[in-house]
Amino acid sequence: MARGETLYGPGDSVSILNKESVARAVFNSSSAWLLEFYSSWCGHCINYAPTWKSLARDVSDWEPAIKIGVLDCAEEDNYGTCKDFGVPLYPTFRFFTAFTKEFTQGENYKAGGDRDIQTVRQAIIDFLQTSPAESKPQAYSSLEPISSSEISSLLTQKQSHYTAIIFESEESYEGREVILDLIQYSNIVVRRALPSDKAILEKLGIGSVPSCYLIQPNGSHGLINDVKSVRSQLSSHLKALRGVRKRLPSETAHSGLSKGSQQEDAAMKEFDRSKLYMADLESGLHYILRAELANHHTLEGEKLKTFKDFVTILYKLFPGRPRVMKLLETLQEWLVSMPLDKIPYDAILDLVNNKMRISGIFLTNHTQWVGCRGSKSHLRGYPCSLWKLFHSLTVQAAVKPDALANTAFEADPQAVLQTMRHYIREFFGCRECAKHFEAMTKETVDSVKTLDQAVLWLWRKHNVVNNRLSGAPSEDPKFPKVQWPTSDLCPACHGQMGGMHSWNEDEVLAFLKRYYGNQEISLEFAD
Ligand code: FAD
Repeated sequence: MARGETLYGPGDSVSILNKESVARAVFNSSSAWLLEFYSSWCGHCINYAPTWKSLARDVSDWEPAIKIGVLDCAEEDNYGTCKDFGVPLYPTFRFFTAFTKEFTQGENYKAGGDRDIQTVRQAIIDFLQTSPAESKPQAYSSLEPISSSEISSLLTQKQSHYTAIIFESEESYEGREVILDLIQYSNIVVRRALPSDKAILEKLGIGSVPSCYLIQPNGSHGLINDVKSVRSQLSSHLKALRGVRKRLPSETAHSGLSKGSQQEDAAMKEFDRSKLYMADLESGLHYILRAELANHHTLEGEKLKTFKDFVTILYKLFPGRPRVMKLLETLQEWLVSMPLDKIPYDAILDLVNNKMRISGIFLTNHTQWVGCRGSKSHLRGYPCSLWKLFHSLTVQAAVKPDALANTAFEADPQAVLQTMRHYIREFFGCRECAKHFEAMTKETVDSVKTLDQAVLWLWRKHNVVNNRLSGAPSEDPKFPKVQWPTSDLCPACHGQMGGMHSWNEDEVLAFLKRYYGNQEISLEFAD
């Protein structure tokens, strides 16, 4: 992916990490970290970015205890880093404890689909509290409740600072949130207490929880009456107390880590929307073989079977140039000659990369989007090329019905669709996309009985996805999600029935066979 505007920029409160900065930032850090490994082409990562930015802003005062970061696995420079961290799916969230002595892949944060700001805040607190003592951040103020005897001694000891005691139920997180909101502030200590000791509650005049009791530096004390214990209100009130000051900012986490990635994208290449570009297909294949699959250390079981099937389909049907076809043939032969039930992906990667040194074999080693180039670098790109790849494969299977003879797919009209289904399920980095696609496929793919029906099935399903994503943040405004092909590309595909738009499916099929057939593929901009 070309450098340019990504989902996060220097103005956001997140630390933007990359292959150079991630280890320096995360390991042996005085604070814990919560990192989002994302992919700038993944629609769900795009949709989630505003929430992650808001979360980072919301907990920016917690930085001495926890820092929020992001790393874009779609950046070519970061492919190896995401592999080292074992991140095959996006977005992936990982916690790292403070003071890690050696490399670790971190602890997965799975929120069961719910990652609103409050849920993540609470997960951070749980993580901080359950970290082993030697891994607690330096600035970790005790989030544990204090006892009645500690409260009594605080009331009698003379302090030079404010002490705020938040009385709340055990399951409430608000007190701990306020403690973290104030860890960068001097002249104040915030603690939490549970309402278990009735005598002390009575003594302090606390009739209900949550309540906040404040001990002043001069020793006087009393309930804060005018502030309900709502986190933001209470934190603002405490920060505004006379003499309470924010300490000088320690190093700002994102300085030096952000890559200043808000530059304007390079001018869009002029391209013809009526054409399919080899540069898109080959860039997609490069990304699949060297990035998406390379995130899997070992292929075995269903993954290995899917990979082998995928290579067979590519070798037989990819409408590629001889130098790419030679690579696919070599890969296919190597897989057949290795009847192993487990293959380290590095062995495949070696083969893909080393065979490149043999003359006559070459697959581009970078992405060069043309018809899939977005108006911003986080839009379009890889998922666009993946659709185009599979449309091409269904069309190739339909126009060359004997191509799969003598393979396990012989006479199987669903060969490409089932291979795509399995590829998406096992390897496609966007896990939410994969879930949607599986649900859609499961319902209807069995109705496909011919190779032509397979071409039309994928066209129809892609239009369903276009419809669902119309207006979503992942939509490129310069390339709106429309029902495709539009009438300028294929006037004969469109008709009317009873005053309603209808598709002329014979014309659509003929159009798809032309558009995705290899006669028309443009080599312009291809390496
Ligand atoms: P794409 O939709 O990627 O289309 C690429 C090109 O294919 C178009 O430019 C056009 O030339 C052609 N085309 C368009 N429609 C058709 C059609 N009906 N038949 C044939 N060719 C067509 N993103 C999400 O945000 N959420 C999801 O759930 C999601 N699920 C996905 C599932 C799969 C299997 C894939 C491959 C991608 C998914 N994506 C999802 C990504 C999304 O569909 C787009 O690929 C991405 O937003 C880029 O859009 P685009 O404008 O390049 O057009």
